[in-house]
Amino acid sequence: MTYDPNNIFAKILKGDIPCNKAYEDEHVFAFHDIAPQAPVHVLVIPKGQYVDLSDFSKNASEQEIMAFHRAVAHLTTELGLNNNGYRAIANSGSNGGQEVPHYHLHLLGGRPMGVMVS
Ligand code: AMP
Repeated sequence: MTYDPNNIFAKILKGDIPCNKAYEDEHVFAFHDIAPQAPVHVLVIPKGQYVDLSDFSKNASEQEIMAFHRAVAHLTTELGLNNNGYRAIANSGSNGGQEVPHYHLHLLGGRPMGVMVS
């Protein structure tokens, strides 16, 4: 999968379409999913143009990778996910069911998340 600079998350980052922002810093942006699958469903994305987890892990700078994971920790605290737990999902490519070709980590919680894969 190649990076499409016109993907919907790129448009959110540019401010061309609105979102319900949950977090932002120099390298990271997070917002509430438009079609939540749980009481808490937030998408964490790097501001850099990475198509999926593998691309991000291979090509992002150490600063970007550290900022991303620190943001995840900040969000799980702020969203109250640490007490009862949560699920983090990174879909990649067609077998992973990825719809938007800009790396994103789903943070899901607020209820038991059920079986891992159906
Ligand atoms: P994935 O299937 O892993 O690529 O997930 C893409 C996610 O983006 C889905 O959960 C969608 O509901 C979500 N999504 C799509 N468009 C928007 C949007 N404009 N604002 C917030 N979330 C969105």
